[in-house]
Amino acid sequence: GSTVEVDPGVEVDEEIAEDDLLGGLKIDSTEDIEVPDRLVDQVIGQDEARDIIIKAAKQRRHVMMIGSPGTGKSMLAKAMSQLLPKEDLQDVLVYHNPDDGNEPKVRTVPAGKGEQIIDAHKEEARKRNQMRSILMWIIIAIVIGYAILTGPILLGILAAGIIWLIFRYTSRGSDAMVPNMIVNNGDQRVAPFEDATGAHAGALLGDVRHDPFQSGGMETPSHDRVEPGAIHKSNKGVLFVDEINTLDIRTQQKLMTAIQEGEFAITGQSERSSGAMVQTEPVPCDFIMVAAGNLDAMENMHPALRNRIKGYGYEVYMDDTIEDTPEMRRKYARFIAQEVERDGRLPHFTDDAVEELILEAKRRSGRKNHLTLHFRSLGGLVRVAGDIARAEDRDRTTREDVLQAKQRSRSIEQQLADDYIERRKDYELQVNEGGVEGRVNGLAVMGEDSGIMLPVMAEIAPAQGGGQVIATGKLQEMAEESVQNVSAIIKKFSDVDLSEKDIHIQFVQAGQQGVDGDSASITVATAVISALENIPVDQSVAMTGSLSVRGDVLPVGGVTHKIEAAAKAGCTKVIIPQANEQDVMIEDEYEDMIEIIPCSNISEVLDVALMGEPKKDSLVDRLKSITGTAFDQGTVG
Ligand code: ADP
Repeated sequence: GSTVEVDPGVEVDEEIAEDDLLGGLKIDSTEDIEVPDRLVDQVIGQDEARDIIIKAAKQRRHVMMIGSPGTGKSMLAKAMSQLLPKEDLQDVLVYHNPDDGNEPKVRTVPAGKGEQIIDAHKEEARKRNQMRSILMWIIIAIVIGYAILTGPILLGILAAGIIWLIFRYTSRGSDAMVPNMIVNNGDQRVAPFEDATGAHAGALLGDVRHDPFQSGGMETPSHDRVEPGAIHKSNKGVLFVDEINTLDIRTQQKLMTAIQEGEFAITGQSERSSGAMVQTEPVPCDFIMVAAGNLDAMENMHPALRNRIKGYGYEVYMDDTIEDTPEMRRKYARFIAQEVERDGRLPHFTDDAVEELILEAKRRSGRKNHLTLHFRSLGGLVRVAGDIARAEDRDRTTREDVLQAKQRSRSIEQQLADDYIERRKDYELQVNEGGVEGRVNGLAVMGEDSGIMLPVMAEIAPAQGGGQVIATGKLQEMAEESVQNVSAIIKKFSDVDLSEKDIHIQFVQAGQQGVDGDSASITVATAVISALENIPVDQSVAMTGSLSVRGDVLPVGGVTHKIEAAAKAGCTKVIIPQANEQDVMIEDEYEDMIEIIPCSNISEVLDVALMGEPKKDSLVDRLKSITGTAFDQGTVG
């Protein structure tokens, strides 16, 4: 029953929906998909946040949204503004105050009325000027006429000139009567939405411009220099502030006052400017605030402001991923249609181009049976792919374009990793064939979305005092832990007493940021066992996995990126934890390059990774007989 809401007008083949990347959607391209009119209906996933903004719009409550960038926070805030009644909208006018020029008066009128008032004032001023003009010419005519009659013509012309100047000079006074409309909702079809992310105080709270000519007739009247802030422009609408903690504390305090009072006088924000002498009557700012940020931002937010929002509104977390269902996949197809239409210039996407993007959304989720909700970057991919097609004047964006776009829009980390692999190839640091004792091709993730191959080397030496684990760099702790885990197993099958040995572990070229230690523990274990038993490790194998004291291989993150990195580095086999098998979403081009071998136990890992038959087989056999039970026997015996 989900088809009606999601894709009106498009047929869905329910038979194949479950396994189909398009969720059974029968389309040739995204052109066939209808995009809903209301922004709130375009939002994909984030059901809770959506329900809350709908509710908050009805009740006029503030909302705080916490979550990753690009998941739809500002989109939802904007959608909320479309749900607010437009009948409430107002225009705001600032008038000259004849009693005190530095305290302009403020009047609020229903939307559309402001324009009429301004026009009426202008008309009046025009008429008044006309009258003055006529009066002036009459006086000039009389003066010149009198001068001609009585003799001193030059003096008469001079007097006429002076009269003319006086009239010009004083005519500005009548313009001062025309009010300044600082908020104009005359043409506004929905309640206003103001994004004040990163706004400075003046842009947020309003400002009074500096007047370089503060007197002498050249000055601009103060009410004409008044400028509204986002809080005033969003009156009766939505004020959106992302990264709210980046507002300085004083500004947050003022923002809170504005929320409490529902009105806020405008004054010059820079203290030494003439604008600072001016302060208007209070200007209405009855907005709904949608504050956003990540968790960190919330903690650093002004506590009073946070309490204010909390006490009078809702807080909601944004999801990063969503379960992958046929209905969701159909919505992702609609997402592409939405982005194409929003951009207006991109060619629509063919069905297989859509499939490739949905595959990418699966991949980026990094979670089994999930799709990523990081739509901004996904939208970026849509635009890059569409631009490629557009540059070639094609009327459809194809799967090829999407693949090329992915290549182009690699993250900085990915570009770094690729560059790094290239350089290491040059220096022949990469070994992807033959057997080497104590050396294992480990895999790590750099940044969020790029894998890298990082070899680990182990060397065993007699200890001077008690045995130690010595590792390079920050990975000391992780190396110690891996060795500890493997030592329980080693004790069971080896004559070597590890407590009498120093184990040196080197992470080759691991000067990189973001190498996650835990996922390398089967790598360290394999390297140590190989060095200990003098059995070479097959260098065409790369591996990732975490190790338990029982010898179980536990799941790790980023397997897809790691597998791709191993393939790029020229390895032909890659070992991953069995539990991660479902997370593998590698791109087609790598599928033929590398064999993926899921393992659940260290004995299986060694079976694949070690070389040199008789020695290896006996080792693996011994291991098989003890692992899994090693821990139990240890405690019983
Ligand atoms: P945030 O404010 O969370 O950083 P945005 O709302 O600015 O993210 O999202 C950027 C763009 O990504 C939006 O304009 C929209 O095109 C797309 N987008 C983000 N989230 C969603 C979503 N949940 N559903 C559909 N499109 C989305």
